[in-house]
Amino acid sequence: MSRVYNFSAGPSMLPESVLNRAAAEMLDYKGSGQSVMEMSHRSKVYDGIIKEAEALFREVLNIPDNYKVLFLQGGASTQFAAIPLNFMNGSGKADYVLTGQFSTKAYKEACKYGEARVAASSKEDTFSYIPRLEKSDFDSEADYVYICFNNTIYGTTYKYIPDTGDVPLFADVSSCFLSEPMDVTKFGLIYGGAQKNIGPAGLTVVIVREDLLGNERDYTPSMLSYKLMADNDSMYNTPPCYSIYICKLVLEWIKSIGGLEAMKERNEAKAKVLYDFLDNSKLFKNGVKKEDRSLMNVTFVTGNADLDAKFVKEAAEAGFVNLKGHRSVGGMRASIYNAMPYEGVEKLVEFMAEFEKNNA
Ligand SMILES: *Cc1c(COP(=O)(O)O)cnc(C)c1O
Repeated sequence: MSRVYNFSAGPSMLPESVLNRAAAEMLDYKGSGQSVMEMSHRSKVYDGIIKEAEALFREVLNIPDNYKVLFLQGGASTQFAAIPLNFMNGSGKADYVLTGQFSTKAYKEACKYGEARVAASSKEDTFSYIPRLEKSDFDSEADYVYICFNNTIYGTTYKYIPDTGDVPLFADVSSCFLSEPMDVTKFGLIYGGAQKNIGPAGLTVVIVREDLLGNERDYTPSMLSYKLMADNDSMYNTPPCYSIYICKLVLEWIKSIGGLEAMKERNEAKAKVLYDFLDNSKLFKNGVKKEDRSLMNVTFVTGNADLDAKFVKEAAEAGFVNLKGHRSVGGMRASIYNAMPYEGVEKLVEFMAEFEKNNA
């Protein structure tokens, strides 16, 4: 068997120990005589799995009791609509900070339902930085402020949590979920699709402060009502059972390596290897503001589209796959999520150095 180093932005690598465990439990989950894929979501054995997944999420991310943890379907993109439908119902206004494509999509979706306002944007500089925001940048009457914490396509991330005063702060954390400790109490809601850092596609985890629930528009579809999902412990209908189970295994793995503090150290060490190389390279360049560099998605270019294509092709042949940048921006992107081992980044950098030498 030979496995590649997969730098995909998502779906992306999972820890090998998690995949091995899933394989070992595939046909007979803990003596139940069934695969987790086959069992009723209402069964006692599955109830144990989803409860354990939630307990681990709470423990690993240090989620206070006044927050609900929801295991939903529909991907992160479904939440772009669910958020205004659930929360844009006080003043009917919301503030959005545009730092890339996903926050822009979320903003456009919110415009369908109410008065969404662009509070700040880094679009004029091709989303290469994160705006420095103060309380006065936000509308104190807004129902919420929305940010995308880590910008998967551009490779930027917030290194601070904006002060929004009494207005609840909502964040899309799809591509940095569980990559480092996060102070959940600073947010009204955080959410993310699982397929970047916490499991397979099909699962979206929403963590929401309980007192914000119950104010949705009356025409909010039941399947998009966070209150309904919370009241039914994410079991209003069939949840994404198998993805939740893998997420549980990922959480056990995170715990086993020392939790999010240890994860952060690992992620910082990995990113440093790559950014240090880029800063010293004569061929490759990272184009985002240094202070705002993502630990998870590292973007780079040679400045020559043909050479970029050659690099992506030769890298894939050498076992470093999915390094092509997002179709909208070109260049390269190495997504180095939690499951990417240090060694994978080290070897990538060796390959890049060799490529640089051969193409000088
Ligand atoms: C991938 C991604 C999305 C879209 O996720 P889907 O699950 O495909 O809808 C949204 N936001 C961010 C930050 C992402 O990285």
